[in-house]
Amino acid sequence: MSSHRDKSIEPNRRDFFKKAAAIGLGATVGGSSVWRPHQASAQITIPKEPMPRRPFGRSGIMVSTLSLGGMFDILNNRLMLAKALDWGINYWDTAEGYGRGRSEEGIGRWFARNPHTRKQVFLVTKLSTRRGGDFTGRLEKSLKRLHTDYVDLFFVHGIRGISAMESSLKSWAQAMKKAGKIKLFGFSTHSNMDKCLEGAAQLPWIDGIMFTYNYRLMHEPRMKEAVEASYRAGIGLTAMKTMGGGPVKSDSESEIEMAGRFMQKGFSDNQAKLMAVWQDKRIASICSQMPNLTIMATNGAAAVEQTRLSKSDRVLLAQYAEETSGDYCAGCDRLCSEVLAKRVPISDVMRCLMYFHSHQDLGLARSTFEALSTQTRELLTQLDFSEAERSCPRKLPIGRLMREATTLFV
Ligand code: SF4
Repeated sequence: MSSHRDKSIEPNRRDFFKKAAAIGLGATVGGSSVWRPHQASAQITIPKEPMPRRPFGRSGIMVSTLSLGGMFDILNNRLMLAKALDWGINYWDTAEGYGRGRSEEGIGRWFARNPHTRKQVFLVTKLSTRRGGDFTGRLEKSLKRLHTDYVDLFFVHGIRGISAMESSLKSWAQAMKKAGKIKLFGFSTHSNMDKCLEGAAQLPWIDGIMFTYNYRLMHEPRMKEAVEASYRAGIGLTAMKTMGGGPVKSDSESEIEMAGRFMQKGFSDNQAKLMAVWQDKRIASICSQMPNLTIMATNGAAAVEQTRLSKSDRVLLAQYAEETSGDYCAGCDRLCSEVLAKRVPISDVMRCLMYFHSHQDLGLARSTFEALSTQTRELLTQLDFSEAERSCPRKLPIGRLMREATTLFV
């Protein structure tokens, strides 16, 4: 086992809840209740308590176990950055493509006004190779928008297979590190995550990976092996899409039952889903979209309180995952996309539906859909998906869902 596990900092739960209670967030010290969204008040103040931190892979850099996902209009919500830092959320994630640059720009305005905070932040940005163009020039533009000379971690955005990490990227990463523009290098992925992680474990020049990982996927044998291999290789791991939302929204009885059970224990089912991932100590951080203080406070409370999930709670989550397996797309699109007459990124379209149905975020669903090529969008209504449906282990009605996406997002 890698020695970097030993460097982790355990949360100071008591202090956090003492202060949270003092400012009216509804938490009690060592008691049965944690803060809940409906208790939020207009004067929410985030307490200055140590957010738990873990080492990011072999780099040993200590990052907050909760990271601020920047897929929202940061330019108009810079207060969130102040509160995040105040609360010890030192890992900030953005990308060239988020909000067409407005996410990076918002962070940049923060650093322009608060240059002394740059060194406190573990800053991540991403570029997609699919967009083409001069990669170095695009990184320069990101740095300019971010008002900084370097990022702590650079991800190649949204790879679908490890073959995307070709040797030219290795040379590029080495050159950028030498020039001081990036400190660590890796990739993010929503697709074929197990394969990507397994492959990365063989590439010593990969420092970090951000990947879809949640209470649904963490028990799958291939995923378990892949996470272990990359962790042992010293790669820093960031989980995303931890709510495990799917492209189909069913009003399941078991979901209501599960929410009721967790509510009795004093936390929400969403907090439980985060806690389940944090209990995997190989995961350095969870990247979470937190576009408002209510969500940030709720997730922060869960980060501090992560050890409260009992074995039976985890069993309940696993049962729920099993019962609703047919509502979730696991991103394994090597199984479904490859059998099509013409290849389309099925799991990307499923993700748009997930943003719409599970996150109720039509804007994000639409902008993610618009990022697909025109040809891909046209193929969604033309292709026969029956072979793909037969290949899907979750038996998702792919054809119907592809057509639904074109109706909803065009
Ligand atoms: S549609 Fe099915 S096979 Fe395709 S990525 Fe989703 S879960 Fe995997």
